[in-house]
Amino acid sequence: MIVAKFGGTSVQDADAIGRVIDIIGDKRARQPIVIVSALGGATNVLLEIAHKAAGGELLIALHMIEQLRDRHLREANTLLQGSSEREEIAAEVSASFDELAHLAEAFRTLGYLTPRSLDTVAAVGELLSAQIVAAAFRHRGLPGVCIDARDVMRTNDFFTRAEPDTDEIDRAAREFILPVIERGSIAIMGGFVGSAPGRVTTTLGRGGSDYSASLVGAAVAAEAIEIWTDVDGMLTADPRIVPKAQLIERIRFDEAAELASFGAKVLHPSTIAPAVQRGIPVYVFNSRNPSGRGTMIAFEAPRMAVRAIAGKRNTTVVKLRSARMLLAPGFLRRVFEVFETHRTSVDVVATSEVSISVTVDDPSNLDAVVADLMEFGDVAVERQRGIVAIVGAGIADGSRAIADAIAAIGAVPIHMASLSATGINFTLVIDDEQVVPAMQRLHRTFFESAA
Ligand code: ASP
Ligand code: MG
Repeated sequence: MIVAKFGGTSVQDADAIGRVIDIIGDKRARQPIVIVSALGGATNVLLEIAHKAAGGELLIALHMIEQLRDRHLREANTLLQGSSEREEIAAEVSASFDELAHLAEAFRTLGYLTPRSLDTVAAVGELLSAQIVAAAFRHRGLPGVCIDARDVMRTNDFFTRAEPDTDEIDRAAREFILPVIERGSIAIMGGFVGSAPGRVTTTLGRGGSDYSASLVGAAVAAEAIEIWTDVDGMLTADPRIVPKAQLIERIRFDEAAELASFGAKVLHPSTIAPAVQRGIPVYVFNSRNPSGRGTMIAFEAPRMAVRAIAGKRNTTVVKLRSARMLLAPGFLRRVFEVFETHRTSVDVVATSEVSISVTVDDPSNLDAVVADLMEFGDVAVERQRGIVAIVGAGIADGSRAIADAIAAIGAVPIHMASLSATGINFTLVIDDEQVVPAMQRLHRTFFESAA
């Protein structure tokens, strides 16, 4: 069994859904379970409809509902031309949007939204895309069976960010998904959507379809999970900065998590943790380029000194110098408490015996942080800093990577450096305007030199 998840752009219209069917048609022997997002952008529109209605702009909301209805009907009609199911699916799509219009009127009257009502609205996108995609499979002669995500994806009632109940999901997957697979059919379920006790509709949070795929994959002990998106996979650097960035064919989970913290947007590793921790490999593939090799993310992968180069601009450095730090147990805790109190998260940290330097991404509460830190000693704030990181699980394995990285950076002033004992990355804080050229030089050194 494999779980194949298709994101919004991979199901954005009839052509894209046609590619999904081609891709899955070739994998039938592997017993695929298909998880789909809403048609690209639909979730944003649905949430906007709710906000407009509650904000008093009912006519705009109703107009948006009609446009979204038309879009779903258009794509469904294109996919289901000549299908005996065409009328039935169109009627179901329309009924959902009629209901949405009633909801919009209710929001208008109430004048406010609750997280619970937002989930009811947001879920419409995936509930419909799963039905449309399943019918399109059947019309193309493949036995697609739509599964209602609310039967399987059992959660608590933390609306808009519901947490999965994995025991219940394991049980429900056996009850609702496995029989479909066992009789040779293809199970198709919306991602993102779940239900709390009482079958109240919930969602797993924005981008939650990857999470759904991972939870279902873990529940059925899938041999692999495939995340189909609109990029070829994870790359050795951001291609907007490094045009020669290359596809990473294999990456460790911890390395992928590190890259995500630098804004690599392919997927958020925390969403695939349930699968990866059970030893199920996760692949990222491009639905527009299905013959590409993709990226495999696994808990363990061969240790490499350097897997990717990452960078971040516009960070702020806070430096504290304090003689009282000398031999004072609990000093670091008290310093970090200041950041916690003012809800400022710290990124890179470097310490010496009498000083501590940290970077923060979000300086909104910095004045309050600085005021409190002054009680410990002298504080300096440096803006216009940036971070480059060389990411690789084997970075500290005695290779030449560190020396090569420093050499590649050249004569640029380094304001902070950090190498963790677990060796997942080597991070350097430099001037903001040096981030782009430094990333380009680092990439050249580690990935573009003739081996
Ligand atoms: N459709 C949902 C969103 O846009 C979930 C997903 O696509 O993963 O957030
Ligand atoms: Mg997504």
